[in-house]
Amino acid sequence: MKSVAWMMDVVKEVGAAQCGALSFDALRPLMSERAQARAAALCPQPAGVLVGAFPYFNGHRVGNVSLYARGLDYHLGVSRRLQRACQQLKEQVPSHTFVSAVDASPLPERAAALLSGIGKLGNHGLVICEPYGSYVFLGAILTSYPIFYKAKPVERCVGCQNCVRACPSGALSLKDGQVFFDGSRCLSHITQTKREPTEEERAQLCEHPYIWGCDLCQLACPENHKAAISPLTDLTGQEKAAPYMSQLTPEMLEGLEEASFQEKFGNRAFAWRGLQILKRNFEIQLHKRPRMDGY
Ligand code: SF4
Ligand code: SF4
Repeated sequence: MKSVAWMMDVVKEVGAAQCGALSFDALRPLMSERAQARAAALCPQPAGVLVGAFPYFNGHRVGNVSLYARGLDYHLGVSRRLQRACQQLKEQVPSHTFVSAVDASPLPERAAALLSGIGKLGNHGLVICEPYGSYVFLGAILTSYPIFYKAKPVERCVGCQNCVRACPSGALSLKDGQVFFDGSRCLSHITQTKREPTEEERAQLCEHPYIWGCDLCQLACPENHKAAISPLTDLTGQEKAAPYMSQLTPEMLEGLEEASFQEKFGNRAFAWRGLQILKRNFEIQLHKRPRMDGY
């Protein structure tokens, strides 16, 4: 009989800086019926969740691509790691199902991380996980193995509001001492949207230091000022398949069609929305040179 502590160690062995565990029932109230049905389709009789935080920070260097997108696409990097963990878990506990889930999954990974106690909730909406700050990707394993761990109280950041002050678009706002997040105004979202940006959004993108994503609230956060460098070489861009890349230029996209773009950049997180989105962002920022002030 393997313990849940052993299972968490397996997830740490594949690279998670922290791993938590929760009963699936602890997450049910946060999931729609549809999400619960999707989870059950992936893993019949879901009974437990393991959630890991995989660090990606590789220092602050000049660039116009968000820090999270400078190495291997986390969907690939974290999925591979979790699949290795699932394989090991299945070998040792063959009577149960173990399924990995990264980002586009029915599991509320952020809530799972917070309720399992592996990090605290920042006012910027991200999970802060020491010693890596909020520079972590979350990934989960859904299992039929019964885990009885209850939800822990959610810990919160110090509430300095630096993130709110740093937000250039009003996505983070303060009202009656409470921080609100409006995802539709977030520049990270707007650099990825396929719809035509509004005039206001175009003006904001034009002033934005990035062509893909936005780190301004995270850069302003004291929890990140001493963030440790991640040892995960795929996610930090230390591997040949996806070497560290902080800066995209229009010249790098010149002459590419969607297929050749995907061939060249398909293992990068900034590629998933396609070539035209990046070209559109460059077109908006056309008259402006990228900032060289250390983002
Ligand atoms: S990512 Fe940028 S736009 Fe979005 S909330 Fe943070 S600072 Fe605001
Ligand atoms: S900047 Fe301050 S308020 Fe915002 S997440 Fe960090 S610690 Fe919390």
